[in-house]
Amino acid sequence: MNPVAELVSTGAELLSGRTINRHAALLGGRLADLGLRLGRDTTLPDDRATVAAAIRDALARADLVFTSGGLGPTNDDVTREAICDALGRGMSESAEGIAWIEERLRRAGRVLRPNSRRQAHLIDGGVLLANPAGVAPGQRIDLPGGKTLFVLPGPPREFDAILETHILPWLREHAAGAPPTTLNLMFCGVGESDLHDFLGPRVDESVVELAYCAAPGRVEVRLTTSGDRSAVDAIAAALRAQFPEFLYAGQREGIGETVARLLNGTGRTLAVAESCTGGLLGGRITEIPGSSSFFRGGVIAYANEVKTAQLGVPENVLASVGAVSEEAARLMAENVRTRLGATYGLSVTGVAGPGGGSAEKPVGLVWLACSGPSGTRVQRCQFGGDRSSVRENALQRALWLLWRELTSSAPGENPSVRPAREEV
Ligand code: ATP
Ligand code: MG
Repeated sequence: MNPVAELVSTGAELLSGRTINRHAALLGGRLADLGLRLGRDTTLPDDRATVAAAIRDALARADLVFTSGGLGPTNDDVTREAICDALGRGMSESAEGIAWIEERLRRAGRVLRPNSRRQAHLIDGGVLLANPAGVAPGQRIDLPGGKTLFVLPGPPREFDAILETHILPWLREHAAGAPPTTLNLMFCGVGESDLHDFLGPRVDESVVELAYCAAPGRVEVRLTTSGDRSAVDAIAAALRAQFPEFLYAGQREGIGETVARLLNGTGRTLAVAESCTGGLLGGRITEIPGSSSFFRGGVIAYANEVKTAQLGVPENVLASVGAVSEEAARLMAENVRTRLGATYGLSVTGVAGPGGGSAEKPVGLVWLACSGPSGTRVQRCQFGGDRSSVRENALQRALWLLWRELTSSAPGENPSVRPAREEV
């Protein structure tokens, strides 16, 4: 069995909503890379007795225990004392620690104050871990039973620096297990519950760990196994066969990145026409480095007059079927494509809410269109959620429509015969 790790995070600010505890996320990821598992994070205020009890409990369960925070020079920094209480050990000033701290302070133009000497207090049996990014050193304490306690400062730069410089190399040598195999599969246009219905009966969770992470407009499925990788490969193959139109990537990435990879270096270009997303779509595309190689630009056509003047959507279309309609979406995509001289035109028009809905066109109704050399695909979507989730869903689904266009126009296939209108 690979060793299990625990973190004891100290700091009242982590519990009062002032600071998000990011050490657990960072440490969990770094340990996972080494085939180690962070089994628990306990977050506590800087209270000596509480921290001591938590360290004792963690050491009773786990082989590797990490503490973060409370190594500063002031009286409210009590982690060293709490560790002594938990282990029944003393501590003493380390000459090496004092020399190190003096040197750090001298370089910063400061002198060693009596209070700072506390930071050089080394717990009996411990080894100092020099802090490349701050003053307070960390410590490593080897304990009976093959257990190890790592003591880290709270400030993120210092926590990371000691972890990278001292602890990860030590773990690689002494504790790393075989890294598990993890596959991340990214879906758009299909719900978490549909994926779960399909996977539930097919996954033996004693062999493959299954995790879902849903965000507006996309679902990530993570498959992990410590055993033979064929178990996760078989599930991935089944998902590919069942959901070919929805599985857009076999690695962690947004659909914008996937689309960018398909367009980059091909000479094909993209233009967007946005109403209810108000520039989010263009914004998301231009967040991607290198998007200038394929993105021509876009028109934010929020008002009907702009849809008419800039995108050539006739007034009579807007008056008869409205701006949130199949016809408007189609014309916006086709005309932005020709007016901006792009290979593909992508459009979004919808009712983001909370107001503006009607029985015929409720809040969350969005029409999308993608126009390309082989025709125009139009899609009607009905999203739930608040304004921001409707807008995020709309932009993700628009990129998905483009992705489908880019991945299904293989030679020999004639996209123009596909139904122009799809309901999801
Ligand atoms: P210092 O010498 O700065 O007092 P310290 O080791 O005593 O260092 P803390 O006082 O516990 O560390 O934390 C210092 C600062 O580091 C906190 O105010 C907080 O901003 C940040 N910090 C501590 N722990 C975390 C954490 N888990 N996640 C994110 N930030 C943290
Ligand atoms: Mg402190």
